[in-house]
Amino acid sequence: MGERPVRIREVAGSNPATSTILIRIFREVTNVKDLLCDGFQDCVRHYLIRHKSIVDIMSKLQESSSRVNRAVAKAVTNCGCIQVHAGRQRIPPGVETLEGLRDHMSTHVEGELCNHCREVLEEEIGRTLFYLAALCNTFDLNLYDVLLKEQERLSCLGMFNFS
Ligand SMILES: [Zn+2]
Repeated sequence: MGERPVRIREVAGSNPATSTILIRIFREVTNVKDLLCDGFQDCVRHYLIRHKSIVDIMSKLQESSSRVNRAVAKAVTNCGCIQVHAGRQRIPPGVETLEGLRDHMSTHVEGELCNHCREVLEEEIGRTLFYLAALCNTFDLNLYDVLLKEQERLSCLGMFNFS
């Protein structure tokens, strides 16, 4: 987190006034994101009544993440807006950097989601987030802190992260 204002200062150049304004905007945006995440978690706390048991939350979380996969599968087999052409990842000889490796790794997805399939996928991801937030609520975890910690972990690992 502390690194960003330094980068903002680089972007703003030598003008301290521009730099201060950019830092203030960055902090406000960060606070809004923070509030958005906390607001979502509060909303889940408010609306989750029927499936409040951890047993229900765990099984609903699994069900909703399966439905995310199902939405992608249906985009391929029912709608056909995307195709999956999967095979072994092929890296040409001579690629020596991790950046170069990234360019040669394929998602195996061809085409683009149509509006309908995109909406369905968004809905299923939203449902999954709902139960993830519910799981956090049960154990008094803050979803935003979880996101930040994961982001920090990724930043620390940098190019050594192969996940
Ligand atoms: Zn489609």
